[in-house]
Amino acid sequence: MKFYYIYTYGCQMNESDSERLAKQLEDSGYKATDDVNQADLIILNTCCVRETAENKIYGRIGELKHLKEKNKNLIIAITGCMAQKNQADMFKRAPHIDIVLGTHNIQHINEMIAEVQRTHKHQMNIAMDNSVLPELEAKPGGSFFAWVPINNGCNKFCTYCIVPHVRGREISRPISAIVEDVRRLGTQGYKEITLLGQNVNSYGLDFKNGTDFGTLVDALEGIPGIERIRYMTSHPQDMTKSMIDALARSSVVVPQLHLPVQSGSNRILKKMNRHYTVEHYLDLLSYARQHIPDLTVTTDIIVGFPGETDEDFKGTLDLLHKADYDMAYTFIYSKRSGTPAATMDEQVPDEIKKVRLQQLMDVQNEISLRKNKAMEGKTYSLIVEGPSRTDEHMWFGRTPGNKMVLFPQDEELHIGDTIKARIVKGQTWVLYGTPIK
Ligand code: SF4
Repeated sequence: MKFYYIYTYGCQMNESDSERLAKQLEDSGYKATDDVNQADLIILNTCCVRETAENKIYGRIGELKHLKEKNKNLIIAITGCMAQKNQADMFKRAPHIDIVLGTHNIQHINEMIAEVQRTHKHQMNIAMDNSVLPELEAKPGGSFFAWVPINNGCNKFCTYCIVPHVRGREISRPISAIVEDVRRLGTQGYKEITLLGQNVNSYGLDFKNGTDFGTLVDALEGIPGIERIRYMTSHPQDMTKSMIDALARSSVVVPQLHLPVQSGSNRILKKMNRHYTVEHYLDLLSYARQHIPDLTVTTDIIVGFPGETDEDFKGTLDLLHKADYDMAYTFIYSKRSGTPAATMDEQVPDEIKKVRLQQLMDVQNEISLRKNKAMEGKTYSLIVEGPSRTDEHMWFGRTPGNKMVLFPQDEELHIGDTIKARIVKGQTWVLYGTPIK
């Protein structure tokens, strides 16, 4: 019996790729282990969005050296965005690595392993073929929830982002393959799926036949067993009102929209190469709220982008009030080498970035608390996810809008059950509820 251990860094796309790596390994006879010391194969599926993340991963790779010294047959593979970005440099920096596998090549993992076993030499495959997306089945990590990638890559080239350089150009999976995936997951007992793409709103545009994200949403209607469909990430430039109409008429797509705005200043949005204005963004949001009742809206915001003035930052604070987000994921801008923003003039000093971040979080936390308190007394459906990580006497589930609700442990409930719960208390980050029987 051979064991594999996969550690995943970064975004949901990487989680999804890890599930696809896992399925291939299991098909060739490997079994999963949570114990890195027991593994015959270790895969670090990496991220390079931030330089700090990359340094941490190099640290982890260094720690694996002693395992390789103990077990000469151990195979160590580095996959994902950092493998794609650093390529053969990874072998120079860490010769105990056996395999470097790029973002377009996870379908080759088993052949790469066989080559290492045959030749005892470094193996690397970092070719980027933007014409085809391999169809690979996943081994979902959860029992009722699964990721379903719909497109890969990005054509946007935001000036702070490394993703298009390591994930390549946008390429969409055929609708039939996605529907087939979701159907299979439905028959296997999965009830909640999340459609994944760097930019889901550009789905199908590469087919050049009128297909778009709205067409896909319509095609996913009424699949047996599927109760909830989520999607991420959206892009304000490509999201259209007709896509919002499709989301609104779907009986399974949940009322949740993660629409990254990044800045409330048109000047900074231009420097970020985002290709929309604050006015366009707010118009989309208002249309979505009019057509999708009880919509939960979240966003991503970067503070301290090069050249961001007090006035630009004030625009972002104003936007928070206007957009009335349920939650905002806020980030301090950090330089990512290889991106245009890293060499822009007028880098904002760290102290200013920190002060702005705190101001932003203070404003957003007040809004989040108000919105969560407004849910008190209302009833929502939840899918039970299991014990809370912070309180052993509580379990948790999520509302259709993806808000986490803690409720008292109940032996009659099981992971994956769909229940109703009344919200008894709303806090900034979490809600408390009582299951209704
Ligand atoms: S849309 Fe922008 S931020 Fe998102 S992956 Fe593409 S380049 Fe990066």
